[in-house]
Amino acid sequence: MTPSAQSERELRSQLADFYHLVRHLGWDELVFNHISARLPGAEERYLVNPFGLLYDEITPDNLITVSVEGELVGESEYRANPAGFALHGVIHANRPDVRCVAHTHSIALSAVAMKAAGIDHDNFYGAQLSGRVAYHDFEGITLYADERERMLASIGDKDVLILRNHGVAVCGRDIPSTFALLWIVQRAAEVQLAAGSMAGPNQSLPDAVRQRCAADAHKITSSSNAFGELLFNSAVRQMKLDKGMVRNEALAAVPA
Ligand SMILES: [Zn+2]
Repeated sequence: MTPSAQSERELRSQLADFYHLVRHLGWDELVFNHISARLPGAEERYLVNPFGLLYDEITPDNLITVSVEGELVGESEYRANPAGFALHGVIHANRPDVRCVAHTHSIALSAVAMKAAGIDHDNFYGAQLSGRVAYHDFEGITLYADERERMLASIGDKDVLILRNHGVAVCGRDIPSTFALLWIVQRAAEVQLAAGSMAGPNQSLPDAVRQRCAADAHKITSSSNAFGELLFNSAVRQMKLDKGMVRNEALAAVPA
């Protein structure tokens, strides 16, 4: 299904699952950070988390709708965190190819955002991101409208934005592919962190190998929605199994 053909109900359900996944995988930040999904239609509006709720408290119904200027649309007992408007609003207003933006402060990604060299493209996941990563210098908490244009200039046409000294934002054409990209970026940062903690130099890759790896990854992830959906749906199933929300019939069938 194309992203623009998805109903608001389907987007709300997927976005709530995305928040629960981020919590389940340990990438959440109490009531802070945002994952937003642009709503279909000519109006520039997006769904985002209500400020004050934990990720596991987010449901399809309590996600709020805001304009790209950060104004609440419709009725809700909740408000949005103003720190999210600059980043999410400017991307949704200016990148029609982007329908979901996920921003996290996971430890591994925040650590990589501290390094002047940024993302290392020499591990399996980092190599897939060659040529896809942009950087934005830290200006403080993203509360001020004048930073919007500079963030937009920083990200350009890339889909991963390392917010230096801060965290990351990843962009995708739908919710599942944004989760898939965040997963790859997170894995790249975790491996970078672990490799960097060991003595001795890392094994570097030739440019040509990185480029082929990135081109192949792009082909796999962008040729259809199948890869993102496969990864997203499998992560949701794993989360539900881990939480005991569903029975694993295959395991249940194994004799004691
Ligand atoms: Zn942040």
